[in-house]
Amino acid sequence: MTEEYKCIGCGSTIQTTDKEGIGYTPKSALEKGIESGELYCQRCFRLRHYNDIQDVAMTDGDFLALLNTIGTKDALIVNVVDIFDFSGSLIPGLHRFVGDNPVLLVGNKADILPKSLKKGRLIQWMKERSHEAGLRPIDVTLTSAKKKNDIQELLELIDEYRDGRDVYVVGVTNVGKSTLINEIIRQSAGVEDVITTSQFPGTTLDLIEIPFEDGTCLIDTPGIIHRHQMAHYLGKKDLKLVSPKKEIKPKVYQLNEEQTLFLGGLARFDVIKSEKMGFIVYASNDLDLHRTKLEGATEFYDKHVGGLLQPPREDEVADFPELARFEFSIKEKTDLVFAGLGWVTIPKACVVAGWAPKGVDVTIRKSLI
Ligand code: GDP
Repeated sequence: MTEEYKCIGCGSTIQTTDKEGIGYTPKSALEKGIESGELYCQRCFRLRHYNDIQDVAMTDGDFLALLNTIGTKDALIVNVVDIFDFSGSLIPGLHRFVGDNPVLLVGNKADILPKSLKKGRLIQWMKERSHEAGLRPIDVTLTSAKKKNDIQELLELIDEYRDGRDVYVVGVTNVGKSTLINEIIRQSAGVEDVITTSQFPGTTLDLIEIPFEDGTCLIDTPGIIHRHQMAHYLGKKDLKLVSPKKEIKPKVYQLNEEQTLFLGGLARFDVIKSEKMGFIVYASNDLDLHRTKLEGATEFYDKHVGGLLQPPREDEVADFPELARFEFSIKEKTDLVFAGLGWVTIPKACVVAGWAPKGVDVTIRKSLI
């Protein structure tokens, strides 16, 4: 592009190369926009037409400025996280950005947890993990953006803690923040006219404001792209397949040492040293699991990824990152977590390895269930 164009919505310089960067516009839209004299960047275009805030990368200076500015407001911060990918959905350094403002931590997607998981236990677990990350939430709660009653209860809780102040909703991508906000809008009367959009001073980012009756607002912010999430390595269809939609049905596998379990072509679980025991897999019911021998498992993967071991699909294999290996010596009942995909509960002491696409975290935690 030789000539420089500006978005008439936010004033950012239009660019057509970096999809996640500020001012991005697809080439086709650029030509149409110049012709019509109404050139918007994709973020503003979607905001205008779909009330959809575009997500931004964490390194984005504007976004950090925005978080910093939130710290100077007198507000309640609602941080939405995905309980299925808790560590993948924490915002690094959030506690530094919020200043003295209280944070309400909301674990979304509660509907997909198996019934055997007690809510009180999970909330306690979330508290401990957030404390470890330096965050001291005023309260921790669970919700499901897909359940009407949950949204009502959440709104009541927000109302209690906001104490007449504005509310900022923050979260990384894929935690269900848009679904939650849209549900809140749907449930708070006359849809279209409750939403206003505004630009945050000093940034090029737009926000959606949903007014409360007392004149304060609930404000939606762009999702932060967290690169350690499995979501970034999957196409839309595969993402649907691995994101559990219904209550997870745990699957028990009796594994001996020297056995391997593949979770589609996305992850791998090796039992290295162990007595035979039942390992419990918690992942989307639609994800196929395959058991094989540890010896030759790498060759098996190379041969079958994209075929027997899906996702990724055949045409995605070339772009799919290699699996990276993490070994753990387990002492007590433990969950081995594949960020954003699920976890395996290990009942007793043993040595195991978890493999996930390079860049995606494999971690262990004290067993949840
Ligand atoms: P955002 O990037 O945080 O705005 O996330 P989205 O609202 O786009 O949601 C990401 C995915 O999670 C979508 O496939 C949603 O349908 C799904 N989702 C959102 N909320 C829930 C929930 O409460 N339960 C379940 N099972 N899925 C949810």
